[in-house]
Amino acid sequence: MKLSLVIPCYNEEKNVRLMYDAILASLQEKEYKEQVEIVFVNDGSRDCTRQVLHELHREKQGELHMKVIDFSRNFGKESAIYAGLSHATGDYITIIDADLQQRPEIALEMVDILDTHPEYDCVAAYQAERKEGKVLTFFKDCFYKIINKMADITFIQGASDFRTMRRKMVDAVLSLPEYHRFSKGIFSWVGFETYYMPYEVQERANGTTKWNFWKLFKYAIGGIVSFTTAPLHMATILGAISSALAALYLIVVVIQKLFFGMGLPGYPTIVALILFMGGVQLMVLGVLGEYMAKVYVEGKNRPIYIARDVLTYEEEK
Ligand code: UDP
Ligand code: MG
Repeated sequence: MKLSLVIPCYNEEKNVRLMYDAILASLQEKEYKEQVEIVFVNDGSRDCTRQVLHELHREKQGELHMKVIDFSRNFGKESAIYAGLSHATGDYITIIDADLQQRPEIALEMVDILDTHPEYDCVAAYQAERKEGKVLTFFKDCFYKIINKMADITFIQGASDFRTMRRKMVDAVLSLPEYHRFSKGIFSWVGFETYYMPYEVQERANGTTKWNFWKLFKYAIGGIVSFTTAPLHMATILGAISSALAALYLIVVVIQKLFFGMGLPGYPTIVALILFMGGVQLMVLGVLGEYMAKVYVEGKNRPIYIARDVLTYEEEK
């Protein structure tokens, strides 16, 4: 198999057929059409995505190679990507959304680049121009600044999961068995030569995005906790600084009392300090808790996804 297209789907009943047709249309001219497989991962959709995918699988036998992995519940896009990558057999593997925001033609351009440039192991698309609100862009900019300061690996702004990788890179990605998967980080962490290609993101064909601000915020915190322990060191530094300041203040107070005979009216100061230190301590405990929660869940060693059924094609059986 030359190319596998991994497509995570969650509530995309109106899009999967359109996506299939778009892929088929884009492959018309390609001599490697027979060497392409589509790996749909139905991430526990609550609509009819499962039925549509099963129908599609039945109807299109012999047209394009197609696999359908059906999750037992919604495990999230990261798990869907992992499942898709594990079932993909292509030399090149593309991750692409089901909502047609990312055009299959661009995926085939990525394949051409890899074909002609043996020095690259991966072609990743990034949004040259963001099509979203200013506030969200601001927060995303902040996220990239913070995580790039803290983490050892580089996170490229605007780069999505939309990318085509060579087999060896996919094997490396699959060799990271962690439960909390933050693909942006994993792709950077495994290394390899990546070519960044600008692309224009399209409007969603049907349905709505699964992301809202709160989900994105939690995802961002998860990413930071997964890829850097800097917040833990910051807690140490914060503790050291506040202890030093406290010691300094103590000296000042003693000098004031002994040499200048000043009284010590301190009620508001004490209350403010107690509240401030209480806040800092709770925050640091919270940071510790974030890491502990991750360790706890990773320690359980649960599978990243559970498949209800997997449909494949003839040669695979
Ligand atoms: N997706 C998924 N599981 C989820 C959420 C999303 O498989 O729990 C899929 C979704 O069907 C789509 C892709 O991930 O193919 C990107 O999702 P979405 O379009 O909502 O994100 P956006 O493009 O707005 O970032
Ligand atoms: Mg989308």
